Amino acid sequence: MKIHEYQAKEIFRQYGIPTPKGAMVTNPDEAVKVAKELTFPVVIKAQVLVGGRGKAGGVKLANSPQETRELADAILGMDIKGIRVKKVLVEEAAKIKEELYMGIIIDRAEKLPVMMTSPAGGVDIEEIARTTPEKILKLHIKHHLGPYDFQVRQIGYFLGLDKAQMNQLGLFARGLYRLFIEKDASLAEINPLVITETGELIACDAKINFDDNALYRHPEVEALRDESEEDPLEAEARRKRINYVHLSGNIGCIVNGAGLAMATMDLIKHFGGAPANFLDIGGGARSEQVTEALRLITADKNVRAILINIFGGIVRCDRVAQGILDAFKQLDFKLPIVIRLTGTNEEEAHKMLEGTELIPMPTMSDAARKVVELVK
Ligand code: GDP
Ligand code: MN
Repeated sequence: MKIHEYQAKEIFRQYGIPTPKGAMVTNPDEAVKVAKELTFPVVIKAQVLVGGRGKAGGVKLANSPQETRELADAILGMDIKGIRVKKVLVEEAAKIKEELYMGIIIDRAEKLPVMMTSPAGGVDIEEIARTTPEKILKLHIKHHLGPYDFQVRQIGYFLGLDKAQMNQLGLFARGLYRLFIEKDASLAEINPLVITETGELIACDAKINFDDNALYRHPEVEALRDESEEDPLEAEARRKRINYVHLSGNIGCIVNGAGLAMATMDLIKHFGGAPANFLDIGGGARSEQVTEALRLITADKNVRAILINIFGGIVRCDRVAQGILDAFKQLDFKLPIVIRLTGTNEEEAHKMLEGTELIPMPTMSDAARKVVELVK
């Protein structure tokens, strides 16, 4: 789960990481009101759950109340990567001397959090990682209490900080690590971590992504969710407790079991098609689940054919077939459906589906090949 910059900065403050003064607003009047409490220039920043706002024109400096009003008015309502801006953050602008980078993710191979820092922060960190990886220092954090003092110093030397800044750096490195662990984040990032003209360190941007599987123990994080910026189909699926990930292809997939769902998507790709989604209806596959799954998939206007791939292990195939028949009664759509249904009671299941428009296929590859043919 993602949260907005203004929310992430609130968490930063709870963990002692210095951030600029400011507040989130939803209209130009409020923007002016906030700006007047600050020292100009102020920075006005679009709050949308995507990166690269700076390059998209969603981050602007204002030197007066009048300019604050104009820029807030321009940014509110702006379209950034397909998302309409409904909130802006108004902050005292930092006088930037240098832009650094600091971020933490999990290194899966090492099974440890890894802290990455770079003197080349700002809007092009991905480019830096690709072209000059030596400009990024990666340190694994092996102790649950956080980075060792010597690691903080190592980062400071790498960034070329002076002694006073070295002390401030500890606030950032330790605070970011502590929130990463305590909030079950999957990413915590400060980009840019700014050195101001007077030599202070301050977090000018803040990004935190959370591990969805740990949200149950963080109601305070769940409360920050902005559903209006989530994929509407994924939000709907989450409410229905269906494991669904929206993708950009045109073949809708209904599968039982996450592993089988992944393999099904691979096969579709293998035969030259593109899956419209990942969907695992789980072990039970009752008729309500099949109906909800079909409802989700047919709500995606890109979908031109559906592949149902069920292995009846614990669940019996006749139950699934009944679910599909029930779903058809409730839903009205005209998409071809290829089905591969195998396992316990498969003969009964196939008999039940005779006379329907479903296209049965004996194996997974046959089914995937067939559905790809249908959308070609
Ligand atoms: P992003 O593009 O979505 O990552 O948004 P950022 O918050 O990182 O802002 C993009 C860029 O805008 C930064 O790299 C800075 O160069 C600039 N910027 C952001 N905040 C300030 C600020 O307080 N003062 C100044 N002068 N520039 C800022
Ligand atoms: Mn940034």
